[in-house]
Amino acid sequence: MLTNRPKAKQRWLDLAPGDTVLVTAGKDRGKQGEVLRTLPESGKIVVRGVNILKRHVKAGQSKGGTRAIQGGIVDYEAPFSYSNVMLVCPSCNKPTRVKHGEHGGRKVLVCRNCGEPYERVKKVEAQ
Ligand SMILES: [Zn+2]
Repeated sequence: MLTNRPKAKQRWLDLAPGDTVLVTAGKDRGKQGEVLRTLPESGKIVVRGVNILKRHVKAGQSKGGTRAIQGGIVDYEAPFSYSNVMLVCPSCNKPTRVKHGEHGGRKVLVCRNCGEPYERVKKVEAQ
């Protein structure tokens, strides 16, 4: 296996945990939820209440951020592609596309709809 192959360039997602998104595709289309985790390496995100799958676990097993105290079948939110969601703008309350802009010398996301810079409720950097 080649070891000196250049690493795939890291894609930065414009989403961070705590953001509200609208699901635009898939079985949960139309649902709104909060981003719980982002997986930038695979371009995936986990949204609360969206893409619920069942996992069979043994007691004490820990996988994918969920830890089972009791064994059995548990519901969990599975990661899905970030391209299936749209960010919901807090200023105009609409799902929106974002562009990259500047606001007060900082790089920010700007709503295409109302032009307002998108302020994160929780101060987490996009990962
Ligand atoms: Zn807006």
